[in-house]
Amino acid sequence: MGQILELDKPIDWHTHLRWDERTKIVLPHSARVFSAVEVMPNAKDPDTGKMVVDSKTVAKYKKYLQSVLAETMGSDYEFEFIMSLYLTDKTDIQDLKSGYRDGLFKAVKMYPLGATTGSDAGISEVKNVAHVLEVMSELGIPLLIHPEMSPSKEMNILESESIFVNSTLSWIRKNFSNLKIVVEHVTTKESLKFVLENSNTWGTITPQHLLFNHNAIFEGGLQPDMYCLPLLKQIEHQKYLNDNLFKAIVLDKLALGTDTAPHMSKDKYKPCGCAGVFSAPVALEAYYQAFKNNLGNDNELIKVAMQRFAHILLPVYGINLEDLPKRDISLLKSSWQVPKEYEGITPMFAGQTLEVKALNE
Ligand SMILES: [Zn+2]
Repeated sequence: MGQILELDKPIDWHTHLRWDERTKIVLPHSARVFSAVEVMPNAKDPDTGKMVVDSKTVAKYKKYLQSVLAETMGSDYEFEFIMSLYLTDKTDIQDLKSGYRDGLFKAVKMYPLGATTGSDAGISEVKNVAHVLEVMSELGIPLLIHPEMSPSKEMNILESESIFVNSTLSWIRKNFSNLKIVVEHVTTKESLKFVLENSNTWGTITPQHLLFNHNAIFEGGLQPDMYCLPLLKQIEHQKYLNDNLFKAIVLDKLALGTDTAPHMSKDKYKPCGCAGVFSAPVALEAYYQAFKNNLGNDNELIKVAMQRFAHILLPVYGINLEDLPKRDISLLKSSWQVPKEYEGITPMFAGQTLEVKALNE
């Protein structure tokens, strides 16, 4: 097995770890290859049914994740959960201030109401949370945004992100010029352009939006495992993302964020199936493929680009690399077959043979 490249402490800046029986199935896949993950707050507290909308719930969720980590990876396994708070129309300013001061969370996530899985506590109108954005701007708390409109029968779903960028996102940028904004999982030309052209603005990008376009959802029949939100987009958007990937990394604008979003396969393969791609088991392999598609066979260059891609948001969050657990991940030339499922959850590339494998040394 020849080594292709080695990465030091990669971080996934967008991860769904759930808060139920799925957590112990999916968490080890992220913990194996990343030193830290940004945990999305659209997980439901099983006791209260609430999303992670206040600092008390953030603390409880983190404790739960730490217990699952200890159970699945061993009690001395070091791995960092970077927590975020779910922004709602009712976010309490005092709770936001004290939770952030106490280090319970490092960022706040905004979901427009109904835009994706677990967004039913999302905000109905951005102006309702202007006072929260003001405080976040003062304190330097990054705002993570799911950049799509709330659904509407009159709107083309493929244009939801572009419309959001030109309306809500532009409004936020104009009114809060010092607010740190991370545009999550960019899928369109408009989003990436926005990230590149605006100060205090960064983006994350998933492996599937680099490697695929919306044809993949319909290839040879309906493919529920390729259904995620935001949807895979048209070929011209995919091309723009790839053409500008390297530039966006050189400019410190675009970060690794898998948006790994596991659902039990039975909840995807049914009428009204769930949205989300479970990419964690193959995330680094998939990104490597995307980088290779764009940068060719120059593994030295790919290594530098991927390493930077994995660390770009550290200064935005105010996190020191030295404080993160050590993790050296080797990408090796090695043929392996991706399992068809992990305990009832179908991963990206299920059943396919990959030529590269990420190994935790
Ligand atoms: Zn997500």
